[in-house]
Amino acid sequence: MNKRQLGSSDLHVSDIALGSWLTYGVGVEADHARRCLDTAFDEGINFIDTANVYGNGAAETFLGDALKNRPRDSYILATKLFFPMDADNRGLSREQIEKQLDASLKRLNTNYVDLYQCHRFDEETPLEETMDALSEAVRSGKTRYIGFSEWTAPQIEAALAITGAEKFVSSQPQYSLLWREPEAEVIPTSATNGISQIVWSPLAQGVLSGKYSPDAPPPEGSRATSDEMGGYIGGLMKRPVLEAVQQLKPIAAEAGLSLPQFALAWVLREPNVAAAIIGASRPEQVIENAAASRAKVDPALFANAEAIVAGAR
Ligand code: NDP
Repeated sequence: MNKRQLGSSDLHVSDIALGSWLTYGVGVEADHARRCLDTAFDEGINFIDTANVYGNGAAETFLGDALKNRPRDSYILATKLFFPMDADNRGLSREQIEKQLDASLKRLNTNYVDLYQCHRFDEETPLEETMDALSEAVRSGKTRYIGFSEWTAPQIEAALAITGAEKFVSSQPQYSLLWREPEAEVIPTSATNGISQIVWSPLAQGVLSGKYSPDAPPPEGSRATSDEMGGYIGGLMKRPVLEAVQQLKPIAAEAGLSLPQFALAWVLREPNVAAAIIGASRPEQVIENAAASRAKVDPALFANAEAIVAGAR
């Protein structure tokens, strides 16, 4: 498993990371979830991503229990805040940062996280207040570094311009062969400011595995059929998208890879990406996807794939 430096931090994260949105503590039964996590460690994954809001604390609670017998310095742990935990608790105010970080640490069974991320930008809190509270969280040792998810380039630049504030080291955008928006501004802004991308839904929630045929119902047991996990995949389950994805299979085969591996290798071809955060409902997926870390692909094959999916979404 290859490791990459996370922005200007001294963290070296596995370039395939394991996430816990929809899956652990929620849609994937606990024993299965634990086997996915153990398999991730066996494969050399050292980077785990979660958020307070995943399962309203349940994903963190699952991880706190599942990680409790592993040495704390053997893995890099990232969590986030912003989305509502209940009617009174949301956003990036000083009060929320202090309260939500403490609550996350308690659920995660640890006294620090490696990366504390703003899950979105908070239009209702002065940025200076947010950055001051995040900086205090770093100085107190409760988090080693700070990051954000889905901020715009002007928002990133405004935070970096605040004198005396800790600097962000990571950006967590959606990025995949089916979603290339970060290339326009977020990646260039990050690259010049010591910030790496840690990418969410690199397989477009499984659509880029090629398992969803345009002409057949989704396979039994897949995210698209799940009551608990299928709420966000609908926008991707469109005929032009599914048809384009099927056309990627021979290109992946030419590269000697499965389609999920090829799609992850495509994300990792971008030097500003430190990690692709995969979701996994089964250990076999972790094994297959982890192998993307070692993939070497002719850039011409990536160019062919990009041309096929261009405009499909
Ligand atoms: P992916 O794009 O990797 O999709 C994961 C799902 O795809 C799996 O749960 C599985 O679903 C299916 N899958 C994975 N590998 C394979 C395979 N080899 N073959 C077939 N199917 C496969 O990522 P997620 O959408 O799960 O997001 C990953 C992580 O990103 C999250 O856990 C979270 O940490 C982070 N995230 C962050 C967000 C943010 O706003 N910052 C938003 C969303 C996610 P199944 O088997 O059930 O079909």
